[in-house]
Amino acid sequence: MSSQLIVDVGDLVGHPGAGKDVSGAVPVSLRLGDVTVKGLMEIEGTVDGTVDGVIARFSARAPAHFVCVRCLTEWHGEIEAESAQHYSHLPDEDGYAIVDRQVDLTGPVTDELALSMPAVPVCRRDCKGLCPICGTDLNVDPCDGHGEESDSPFAVLRDLLDS
Ligand SMILES: [Zn+2]
Ligand SMILES: [Zn+2]
Repeated sequence: MSSQLIVDVGDLVGHPGAGKDVSGAVPVSLRLGDVTVKGLMEIEGTVDGTVDGVIARFSARAPAHFVCVRCLTEWHGEIEAESAQHYSHLPDEDGYAIVDRQVDLTGPVTDELALSMPAVPVCRRDCKGLCPICGTDLNVDPCDGHGEESDSPFAVLRDLLDS
């Protein structure tokens, strides 16, 4: 399997109004904190000619694995992204350009997918997390059994201060 999505744009450059559909799947592996994107990134889009190059509009999706930062629940899902990238013969600030009458969509699509990864994944908006004292999942069990002062870190601190 190809690790890039290469599109021949020789007949599009300088021809506004000319365009083609593109699609493909390339392997991806990204990691941001508690989110891992790994597997096949599916890409669909169009590439259209502009006066001095081409513009690629694309959407992409890839399998992802998440770990809730509050309760440590793990789940599988997807990361989706969509964006556009203009290519000309001169590289842009990210270094993307038309090379040998071709463009590679892999870089811009991967960049966009990485930007769509949540920095702080939570399993649900109101996740209560784990009890900081006993580690019980507070979504499942309210865990109100820490009423005795001796269990509290503040009680320990108070004992130290008293002595
Ligand atoms: Zn959670
Ligand atoms: Zn507890």
